[in-house]
Formats: sequence, C-alpha cells, structure tokens
Amino acid sequence: TLQETTELHNGIKMPVFGLGVYKIPDEQQGMEAITYAIKSGYRLIDTASLYDNEQAVGAAVRQSGIDREDIFVTSKVWNTDQGYEETLKAFDTTLDKLGFDYLDLYLIHWPMPKQDKFKDTWRALEKLYEDKKVRAIGVSNFNINHLEDLKTTAKVLPMVNQVECHPHLNQQTLRDYCQAEGIKVQAWSPLKRGDLFEVDSLTEIAKAHKKSVAQVILRWDYQHGILTIPKSVNKSRIEENADIFDFTLSEREMAQIDALHNGDRTGPNPEELNA
Ligand code: NAD
Repeated sequence: TLQETTELHNGIKMPVFGLGVYKIPDEQQGMEAITYAIKSGYRLIDTASLYDNEQAVGAAVRQSGIDREDIFVTSKVWNTDQGYEETLKAFDTTLDKLGFDYLDLYLIHWPMPKQDKFKDTWRALEKLYEDKKVRAIGVSNFNINHLEDLKTTAKVLPMVNQVECHPHLNQQTLRDYCQAEGIKVQAWSPLKRGDLFEVDSLTEIAKAHKKSVAQVILRWDYQHGILTIPKSVNKSRIEENADIFDFTLSEREMAQIDALHNGDRTGPNPEELNA
C-alpha cells in the first residue's frame, strides 16, 4: 500500500512512495494538489528550497488532519547555500517556511563537485541530525565517486541518494553500490517527465495488465526496491500513479523494462552541473 515503508540504516521508517512537488506552485492550487494526495493516502512529500513551495507543503500537511509524525517530508539544500554555516542557515529558513519543528529528511540537492563544498555541507547535515532537527540525512545526484569522496570525512553515511532514475537511465551500477553501502535509492523524474509513454514495450506491458504506462514504470520501481516520487497536480493522475499495488510484473517484463536503458537523461549530468 501507499503507507508501506522501508527502514533506513538508522532505523527510521520512510515511505517507499510519495509525491514530488517540483513546479507545483506555492499557492492555493499547489496546496490543493498536496492536500488531495494526502487524502488519497500519500504519506511522503518531496520538496526543496529551490521549488519555492515549502509554505504550501507545510500548510497542506498541517491542515491534513493527519498527525505530523505520520507524514514524511523531504527538503534539500540548494547549491548556492552549500557550506557549513550557509547550510545551517538555509535549513532554518526551510523549517520556518514549512512551519515544522523538525524535518524528516534533508538532502544535499547536487554535489557540485567543482564548487567542492559538499563535505562542509555534509558536516552541517550531521550537526542537524545530531541536534535532532532532522530524522534522516542524505544526498541527491551523487555518483559513486562523490559518495566515495564524502566517505573520507563523513561520520554518518547518507541514508538516501535521490537520483534521476527511470527505464532510460536505470542507474543499475549506482543502485548496486548504494545497496552494498546501506543507502536507499530514490528516483526523481521516475516518469522521465512524460517522455516514456509512447515506448512500445511499455505500452504493451501496460495493455496486458490493463494499467497505464505510468503505473507500469512506478511498479517497476517498486519491485526493484527503488523509492519513487512521481509528480502531478492533476487529481486523477495523483490517484492513478498511486494505484500500483494490485498487480505484479513478471520477471520477463521486469527484464524487458531493464533492457530499455540507453543512458538518456532529462536533467543535468551531476558531474557537469556547475552553477
Ligand atoms: P516526473 O517523471 O514525475 O514527471 C512528472 C510529469 O509527468 C508531470 O508534470 C505530468 O506532466 C506527467 N505525468 C505525471 N503522472 C502522469 C500520468 N499518470 N499520466 C500522464 N502523465 C503524467 O518528473 P519530475 O517532476 O521531474 O520528478 C518528480 C519529482 O522528483 C519532482 O517533482 C521533484 O520532487 C523530484 N526531482 C528532484 C530532482 C533533484 O535534483 N533531486 C530533480 C528533478 C525532480
């Protein structure tokens, strides 16, 4: 079900499925979409200071009637706020906007390797974790080399790595590495922002199960143990995307979807992003 959780390496339980809110506006329409998702059973909301909608997320969670501890909220420190002091300050702003007294998961949004601040930024996340202002800490868009670099100074290993992941970019090598390190992988742009809906093998598999391509992809995530956060502001799609717990892809179908990997991205390459 939508309430299913996985256990992070520090024992915290995190929902395997959630709502991504990138480009969902910080106003009534955004609040309504998030409120609707929570009403439909979503228990994880993925925001970031960059998304400029932390206020709507906080308001929707507070007004949902669901206990704060039963909803898992992720936010992220933006690239220009990296560094120890800067990150502590950015976190205060995030918490303030959300109107919460703690956050569930805080991520470094991008490694920005050329900026070379992610180790200092990570120390700030460790401090926030130690002070119990955040229940879990992690990274986003980190490749194996960034994680290896982080390990040279980290006291706490990331609990989550949120990366672009979908059938065209299935992150098999990174997923194997993260699994060995006890780091959960969460997929962003799991639907490749709508770019996979015409792919023949996906439409065929969808037809065979009387499901949509979106549901097939999100089910593929689920069966691989990839945490996932599809985005939609549309009520029927919010429900559709979550309706993936009543069918099973066969091993053959899973392998067919795995074989769609071609390395194509919808977002920037973490190695190259530098501003
Ligand atoms: P996505 O793959 O979730 O695609 C979302 C788009 O697909 C929607 O805008 C809609 O147009 C379409 N869509 C959604 N459900 C559909 C359905 N059932 N049928 C048809 N079309 C449908 O892309 P995304 O929003 O980029 O990624 C999801 C979330 O991941 C974001 O909202 C954000 O929270 C997170 N994210 C994180 C990073 C990062 O750097 N950490 C980067 C991008 C996104």
